[in-house]
Amino acid sequence: MPLPEPGGGILIFAYFCEMPINYDAYEVVIGLEVHAQLLTRTKLFCGDSAAFGGEPNTHVSPITLGLPGALPRLNKKAVEYAIRMGLACHSEISRMNYFARKNYFYPDLPKGYQISQHTTPIVIGGWISIRTAEGQRNVQLNRIHIEEDAGKSIHDIDPAYTSVDLNRAGVPLIEIVTEPDLHSAEEAFAFLTELRKILRYLEVCDGNMEEGSMRCDANISVRLKGETKLGTKVEVKNLNSIRNVRRAIEHEAVRLIDLVSAGRPVQQETRSFDASNGTTFSLRSKEEANDYRYFADPDLPPFQVSDELLESIRASLPALPEELVERYTKQLLLPEYDARVICDDKDTVDYFEELTKHTRNYKAAANWVLGPVKSALNEKGLELVQFPVRPATLAALMLLVEEGKLSFSIAAERIFPALLQEPSKNPLDIAASLNLIQSSDTSEINSWIEQALAGMPDKVTEYKKGKKGLIGLFVGEVKKLSKGKADPKLTNQLLLEKLEN
Ligand code: ADP
Ligand code: MG
Repeated sequence: MPLPEPGGGILIFAYFCEMPINYDAYEVVIGLEVHAQLLTRTKLFCGDSAAFGGEPNTHVSPITLGLPGALPRLNKKAVEYAIRMGLACHSEISRMNYFARKNYFYPDLPKGYQISQHTTPIVIGGWISIRTAEGQRNVQLNRIHIEEDAGKSIHDIDPAYTSVDLNRAGVPLIEIVTEPDLHSAEEAFAFLTELRKILRYLEVCDGNMEEGSMRCDANISVRLKGETKLGTKVEVKNLNSIRNVRRAIEHEAVRLIDLVSAGRPVQQETRSFDASNGTTFSLRSKEEANDYRYFADPDLPPFQVSDELLESIRASLPALPEELVERYTKQLLLPEYDARVICDDKDTVDYFEELTKHTRNYKAAANWVLGPVKSALNEKGLELVQFPVRPATLAALMLLVEEGKLSFSIAAERIFPALLQEPSKNPLDIAASLNLIQSSDTSEINSWIEQALAGMPDKVTEYKKGKKGLIGLFVGEVKKLSKGKADPKLTNQLLLEKLEN
């Protein structure tokens, strides 16, 4: 560093004492755009399979390929799914709709345009409720519209060429667009988790971000707190998990505040997330506005949503997570924690609901589902729908515990694993064949008690002198001698009778 000129002291002071950045002075603003692939059997405008994967270029009729003369026809199921989502998000459903052509050139877009809803999204406004450490809040949606997916360009098969697979071209999507209404990476994480839960509850989309059936772009800007004008945003793409959305926003928020606080301008641009190091890099600047030359697709007549259609979809909506949590806590009297964990996914809800058809012991049912059932699923890497022990069988096992024929620990640690091996067997038969049915036979228990007390005369003397806490030791010994079969309540009672007399 050159020596300072005389009088340069202030500059040097500024150089060494750079003001720390006050991140708290800034507000982060985030809007998300989420594409969700609809679980229809066929594509949006033709009968080609909409299934993920498949031999490349096998789900491709002339309509998918956009051959001259091919005419699209709207898939009604896709419209129903979009409406279902809209109703679940408390949105307004637009009655008159049309599709527009969004023109651009790309190798995986055979027609040279994408069919989308331009100015008439089928779903307008609405909100999704989220929970974070700061409490509960409704995140406002801007719109949900229907559009077709493009094909897939594959760059890593051939070193010299890009390969194109058009199986995905024309698969129906909904795009869920939020208002710039999220304010932290944590909120975006909570929003996407909730959104995915709702998509899955409604069976509208499988929500699998790794396979690309749910894709998210995050728009981020920062501004000084109190400022009403939005800052310039950047858009981050290639976010293939909810966790990566959170990481990208955390990184971008700091990067943008560093820029703005240094008085440097933010470029409006599209960036890509690098999951290997949690940073982002610029893909393209968004200076020049795209000209998509939108116009109403002349091959598709406008479509109207009738009262009948709307009401029939409304009537078929399943109960949503928030509603179920309320029912489980208020009617079944479950602790809120249990209710929320059960409602985290639809499969668990279905299993639990089925279980409650066979037992009224709801808290025990929740304990079984969240305890032994979940651990067995994790251990074996199974999904609940393939879980061998069905709710009716589990209820039969629970009944044995209620009736005092089995202790909970014997049921959970011995019978339940045996049932996993042979799920068609009756729990009572298994317990009998393993000789584990709890004994309520007074004389049998008394003989274990005598054996136990005979083994520790000193302790018995101590007990009689007043060390009443030793009762636990005696009960434990009887449990051991009986291999867990002695009914603990009865054991306790018989022990007291014996020791006090
Ligand atoms: P574009 O035309 O660039 O796609 P839109 O107005 O359609 O922009 O908004 C796309 C998404 O970006 C929406 O989710 C919206 O909430 C969000 N968004 C718009 N402006 C901002 C901003 N300044 N900061 C953060 N998010 C924003
Ligand atoms: Mg956009």
